[in-house]
Amino acid sequence: MPNSPCAAHACRKGLPLRLAAVFPIRSLENPMNPLRTRFAVLLSFLALFMGTAPVAALEIDRQLVVTVRTVCDNAGLNCASQGPLGNLFFAAEGDKIWAQAGIDLLFVQGPNLNNTSLLNGQGSLGAFTAPLGGTGTTMFLTNSLSSAGLYGFAYGNAGGLAINMSAVTSFNGGIGRLDTIAHELGHNLGLYFGPGASGGHDNGNANFLMASGGIRNIPSSLAQICPDPTPGSCRSLLSDAHIATARASSLLTPIPEPGTWALMAMGGLLVGAAVRRRHA
Ligand SMILES: [Zn+2]
Repeated sequence: MPNSPCAAHACRKGLPLRLAAVFPIRSLENPMNPLRTRFAVLLSFLALFMGTAPVAALEIDRQLVVTVRTVCDNAGLNCASQGPLGNLFFAAEGDKIWAQAGIDLLFVQGPNLNNTSLLNGQGSLGAFTAPLGGTGTTMFLTNSLSSAGLYGFAYGNAGGLAINMSAVTSFNGGIGRLDTIAHELGHNLGLYFGPGASGGHDNGNANFLMASGGIRNIPSSLAQICPDPTPGSCRSLLSDAHIATARASSLLTPIPEPGTWALMAMGGLLVGAAVRRRHA
């Protein structure tokens, strides 16, 4: 799909561009489809004002900024996949998974990393980056890690992860391993190193996001991800303990209160109306 503003859902729904443009939330995320999330936010606010919005388990009040560095060969060619067109980095699945914890994922495109040996496999995450300080994390997308069965690895309770996008995107007949990036981000956010943890994993429930890859039930679609279809059978589940740990991570940054967004939304509507009148 071309990266044209009117390729996005907002245009198909007839949302004026100037109205959509006042919603900067996640504006850098998923550049193939930048207006869709803003349109969803608008709908949420309208529903909220009308009192019809379902009560979310948790307000989305924290954000994890994920700087993406795609690995290419030394000549800057043959770069690793970034995931499906229109859903780069499996952002839809990651956002739905982390919404359980009131956390928004904001993917930001960083510079590519031209390094043939890193593109074709390395033995450690340290070859890509040391554990990062500060907020946010940096995600390296590559074609191979140290073993064919390794889909990704991440620092625990610190920024820095690398994803084998060749394995992730070809999983399940090309549907993709939809929760791998979300899982590795969970390690960055401090999951799961508590009592009973096995190698950083919580294997107490095969539907847990943080169960190890060998026992985890991998979702095959967005619809299978919690809270759908029902808590208990849905996949990529975060337990209350997981949510509490992740939300305490120093990698997160606050995002504006809903009241602030509501004011901005109303301001945007007024500006839109004014512009329309001026053109009338
Ligand atoms: Zn893991």
